[in-house]
Amino acid sequence: MNTTTTTNNNTLITNIISPAISTGNDREWPLSKARKQSASGGRNGDRQIRRGRDARGTIGTMAAALAVAGRTRQARARLRLFPGGGPGVWPAVLLFVLGLLAPGWARLPVVTTTTDLLAIVQAIGGDRVEAVSIGRGHEDPHFVEPRPSFLTTLGRARLLFLIGLDLEIWLRPLLEGARNQTIKPGGRGYVDCSQVIPVKEVPTVRVDPSMGDVHPLGNPHYWLDPANALRLAELIARRLSEVDPAGAATFATNLAAFRRDLEGRIPGWQARLAKVANRKVACFHSSWIYFADAFGLEIVGYLEPRPGIPPTGREIAALVVAMQSAGAKVILRERYHPDRFADLVAGKVGGKVLVLPASVGAEPSIKTYPDLIETLVSRLESALQ
Ligand SMILES: [Zn+2]
Repeated sequence: MNTTTTTNNNTLITNIISPAISTGNDREWPLSKARKQSASGGRNGDRQIRRGRDARGTIGTMAAALAVAGRTRQARARLRLFPGGGPGVWPAVLLFVLGLLAPGWARLPVVTTTTDLLAIVQAIGGDRVEAVSIGRGHEDPHFVEPRPSFLTTLGRARLLFLIGLDLEIWLRPLLEGARNQTIKPGGRGYVDCSQVIPVKEVPTVRVDPSMGDVHPLGNPHYWLDPANALRLAELIARRLSEVDPAGAATFATNLAAFRRDLEGRIPGWQARLAKVANRKVACFHSSWIYFADAFGLEIVGYLEPRPGIPPTGREIAALVVAMQSAGAKVILRERYHPDRFADLVAGKVGGKVLVLPASVGAEPSIKTYPDLIETLVSRLESALQ
């Protein structure tokens, strides 16, 4: 870097970036701040812990209320079914109703932590599974706010599929409250999907999560590479077949169809992104390394070089310089990341910010895993021309 660039860089930090950072920066990285303060016994850390306790209290109360309501409904239903006090013809009616309901009851209850895992479980499990996701597609998967109703759902789940690598730091209180040993760590139904993934960006030195780094065990955003989606589908088919052996043939057929569909699309996606004029991008959070490697994009820098930790003025200025020297014009960010810093950098380099969905369900039209990758390819194809 020559003297002129250094002077420009310092001017950028002093005049533009530092004032921007000093205005309410901490509000936008709530958990990183809470973690740091929790480690030092600060006020926000206490609030974070209290919120966890409150959530568990609410979760427990709601679970009890649901159980009581369920028993009351059953009692009322019995009264309605046997108004005269005797069974008469009603057992036949009851058996008929139970017969109609039986396929629903027979479904395998499965919980996933993210909508991407849910989409793959549904593609493989089909009608044999009753699957729900705790996280929603528009939420930052690092900071999901679990709903109390999931205590009941987790209580009856036979399988729990999670991303792992400490992405789901919010899961532990739910598992403690659910009282279902099968889906707790070490249980037969607890499936950490990172076990089948070649993980990128594994730290070479120990990372202390209390400092706010949300990728302490490596980069957990691996679902954005379709090759990894195939690995997930194989793992999911295997674990569903272990718990529901009668469905093994169905799962194998569905896995073959999922593989055929995805493998049929991947070369087209790669060809479309190979044609773009400029494959160099910057990113807000390091969510895109798996996608970038799969589709030949080059990431020249991050607004959060330390994942989950707010950038310093120097880091922001360094990104401006990196983008300028590489000729990168586009910054990728997710909807839940703050727009101010990305807009600032985009303005300095004469580029633009591209907001991308990072999960199935992030937008109503993205209903399946192939929908997600198709949307990403099509948005990038337009933005990188
Ligand atoms: Zn992350």
